[in-house]
Amino acid sequence: MENSLIFDKSSDSVSTDNVSFSPGIPDCDISSIFPGQVRHELTIPDLGESAVVRHYSRLARKNFSVDTNFYPLGSCTMKYNPKLNEDTANLDGFKAIHPYQPPEFCQGALYVLYHLEKLLTALTGMDSFSLQPSSGAQGELTGLLVIRKYHQSIGNNKTTVIIPDSAHGTNPATAAMCGYKPIVIESKDNGLIDIEKLKSLIDQDTAAIMLTNPNTLGLFEENILEISDIIHGNGGLLYYDGANFNPLLAVTKPAVMGFDVLHLNLHKTFSTPHGCGGPGAGAVGVIKELSRFLPVPRVTKSQDGYRFDFKCPDTIGRVRSFYGNFTVLVRAYSYLLRLGRNGLLNVSQTAVVNANYIKERLKDTYTVPYSQACMHEVVLSCDKQKQNGVSALDIAKRLIDYGYHPPTMYFPLIVKEALMIEPTETESKQTIDAFIEAMISINKEISTDIARLKEAPANVCVRRVDEVFAARNPNLRWQNPSLESDDA
Ligand SMILES: *Cc1c(COP(=O)(O)O)cnc(C)c1O
Repeated sequence: MENSLIFDKSSDSVSTDNVSFSPGIPDCDISSIFPGQVRHELTIPDLGESAVVRHYSRLARKNFSVDTNFYPLGSCTMKYNPKLNEDTANLDGFKAIHPYQPPEFCQGALYVLYHLEKLLTALTGMDSFSLQPSSGAQGELTGLLVIRKYHQSIGNNKTTVIIPDSAHGTNPATAAMCGYKPIVIESKDNGLIDIEKLKSLIDQDTAAIMLTNPNTLGLFEENILEISDIIHGNGGLLYYDGANFNPLLAVTKPAVMGFDVLHLNLHKTFSTPHGCGGPGAGAVGVIKELSRFLPVPRVTKSQDGYRFDFKCPDTIGRVRSFYGNFTVLVRAYSYLLRLGRNGLLNVSQTAVVNANYIKERLKDTYTVPYSQACMHEVVLSCDKQKQNGVSALDIAKRLIDYGYHPPTMYFPLIVKEALMIEPTETESKQTIDAFIEAMISINKEISTDIARLKEAPANVCVRRVDEVFAARNPNLRWQNPSLESDDA
């Protein structure tokens, strides 16, 4: 009963507490409103309100979240999201606003959009932003459409985009969606771009390079100025994947590294809970020369207040309905104002110190493939453990038993048996120490209790799934026998 589906519960329902929501009003006769319509019985569970509430409350307690436990997911910045920003987004003036409301009646909302853009330009050194894209991937798409339009506007017929092998998978996908051929550049042994190789790959077809700095190995690309000179010298542009901006906040700006276009994942760095794919905001920033290509509408300020400007002849157009995921933008604005410059600097420095602390304390137990200091995340390899029959997957699953969400696994692709750990700035030393002890203890189990490791997780409500079977026999639909027999 405890773990059964709500559909299974309905058959043994003994509920009598159904609330009548329409006392005294007779059942509606549908055929009198829609003549000829046949009335189908809905196969929904027959349960009382209290049974439904208990079912979902019980399920909610099984959730793992950053509000309940440490969530060291590399590359995705699962940091604690201060509740203040939830309260701000929940203000009536923000949440009850309608997107068709005329600008005169939503000056407060436009004020937030306008000033958020200003704060983001200050943090990145870009000239202007569009807050429309609703995810990092959509931000990339917007950014590359801007780059394409720029090249077209000056008669450049460029066809390729260079992308390092450590890049996030969305980068080559975006380039391909914009009609560019992605050219992969292999990283050097130290995890950074090989300058000589870059020179050999570049030609008159190169439209841009897509980089993230620090890269997805958590390493700072120290030759970025030289890379910028090479690309710009060849008529190309630099795209910055700023999905994870935690390490750079108030430290340095992508513009001073030579980047021309970037996106920031406001839902990662700037505090919006974003599990399970949403909601997001992938704000796109560009240098002055590219501003005229940004999506419309732009938010502008005049004597009469804030307004939407649709008259931008060179724009790539709209990339989304209305003005973006507005309440994600409100959260980001609230987060930035609350912390201020010094608070943001503190965020970055603490995030970097925490990652390096983990790296130093685990380097004798797990392999650290790159020896230099890392930035906000550290990539470990479980290659030694693998030689003893235990994979990164086994270790990740066992961490669940210890009460941790597993880190990102097998990414970046260039590190064997990778575990990518991003502790973020919001975890205390006690939490991080306990996590490190768990990682060391799991490694000891390889010699003491390997069977337990291979079967993990065992202490929680989920078990290991048969991933090979699941991949070969995907069944994405829960089959309700009574629905199956219904032609509808
Ligand atoms: C998360 C992430 C993305 C994609 O962002 P979404 O909002 O998930 O579309 C792109 N690049 C990097 C480096 C990321 O970490």
